[in-house]
Amino acid sequence: MTSREQFSPLCDVHYTSMQRMMVEEDGEEIQSYHICERRDCSRVFRDAFGYSDLIEGQFDKSRAFIRKCPACGAILYLAEVDQPRKLETWECPRMNCEFSEEFPSPAAR
Ligand SMILES: [Zn+2]
Ligand SMILES: [Zn+2]
Repeated sequence: MTSREQFSPLCDVHYTSMQRMMVEEDGEEIQSYHICERRDCSRVFRDAFGYSDLIEGQFDKSRAFIRKCPACGAILYLAEVDQPRKLETWECPRMNCEFSEEFPSPAAR
């Protein structure tokens, strides 16, 4: 899968920006994921698995949130939030896919 070099997901809970982390797994595969900038937040975004929580080094699947691109099947990320209009813009990270869609933000947040 070819992803854009730079994309900046927002935390889907706090709408804050996320920081890119690189992890080397088994000395070979380099994986990257994004973590919420808030210190009290364990939210992470992984390119291949979407949003979930990272608790004590484990990804918590029960808190996963995944939205798939209907055009190419990649995992969408939360790109922008329009707070006054309560709209979330989700975008596809794939290089040749320009898909993006707006969703109303959940009232509970
Ligand atoms: Zn957060
Ligand atoms: Zn796509």
